[in-house]
Amino acid sequence: MNEGPSRSVLFDRAPSFSFEFFPPKTPEGAQALLATIVTLQEFHPSFVSVTYGAGGGSRELTRALVRDIQQRGIPTVPHLTCVGHTEEELETILAGFVNAGARAILALRGDPPRRGAYDPSRDAFRHAAELVRFIRSWEERQRLSFRLTVGVAGFAEGHPDTRNRLREMDFLKAKIDEGADYICTQLFFDNHAFFDYRSRCRLLGIDVPIIAGIMPVTSVSSLNRMAELSAGTNFPARLLKAMLRAGGDRQSIERIGVNYASQQCSELLDEEVDGIHFYTLNRSRATLEIYRNLGINASADVDRIKALNFLYKS
Ligand SMILES: Cc1cc2nc3c(=O)[nH]c(=O)nc-3n(C[C@H](O)[C@H](O)[C@H](O)COP(=O)(O)OP(=O)(O)OC[C@H]3O[C@@H](n4cnc5c(N)ncnc54)[C@H](O)[C@@H]3O)c2cc1C
Repeated sequence: MNEGPSRSVLFDRAPSFSFEFFPPKTPEGAQALLATIVTLQEFHPSFVSVTYGAGGGSRELTRALVRDIQQRGIPTVPHLTCVGHTEEELETILAGFVNAGARAILALRGDPPRRGAYDPSRDAFRHAAELVRFIRSWEERQRLSFRLTVGVAGFAEGHPDTRNRLREMDFLKAKIDEGADYICTQLFFDNHAFFDYRSRCRLLGIDVPIIAGIMPVTSVSSLNRMAELSAGTNFPARLLKAMLRAGGDRQSIERIGVNYASQQCSELLDEEVDGIHFYTLNRSRATLEIYRNLGINASADVDRIKALNFLYKS
């Protein structure tokens, strides 16, 4: 029997801090990722998430990585995309994730593969809202003894497929109405866009946690890659000017990216963001630096500190 909606372990701590990894394809990559996880584990993340190659190419790798991280005692959230999958396939994948120890899923549409043959008529679903509904009905049919925490994607600066920004918010609301528990945003560099998005969500009655996706720029090529992969993301002139001043010096550019992201996080925390999700690209250095800049004590209980008026008494 389902335990019913209870506060998810992902949000035990407010704000939540989480990291995203992708499944490495080589033994060297796996080794490097393990080192990253060991380093970042010291910061007691609320959870980590593991990406999923739309179409299922990385299905086994995602499951294996989820199992490995979950075994280290860190709540792990596999991503799942519905592009390229039938209902039967999705059921098998969900069962695999749950058997690997996952108690949460990030439900996504995914993007159709750019290369190779792709037949959309095979797909069970066209949008993530349908996948959320499917996950809820699957867990009901499975009579799981726990309720899966289901997250969905959000786009503070808009998703390129929907030009009508009012309709887009209705589509987001549909995902919550189907049973999603939280929203994790695409990376962004403009906090105003995020704050406005959060306000628009609240106006629509979307009251689930909204986690801010943060990715520090670490090089010119990473900037170009982000622009390509997160189409529609705005790169503020302030960031670009700072990068120009670095004149192509790699270390300076990385420092600028870390400083920029640190300032972004600091402001988000001041404005009581529900959580911050770091897109790590499987590397720990930049995220570690941001943590240091913010002076976050990973084991501090923010609610308790507030209640004790800690800052005023000491
Ligand atoms: C936090 C995060 C993690 C991600 N992880 C992965 C990953 O692991 N693997 C991967 O392949 N991709 C990943 N992506 C990318 C994501 O799959 C793509 O951005 C995709 O284009 C959108 O997915 P979605 O879940 O938001 O889809 P949807 O919510 O289905 O929305 C997709 C588009 O369709 C529109 N839409 C929704 N419902 C309707 C409707 N009923 N009628 C008409 N239009 C509609 C929306 O407005 C939007 O423009 C991630 C994105 C984010 C933000």
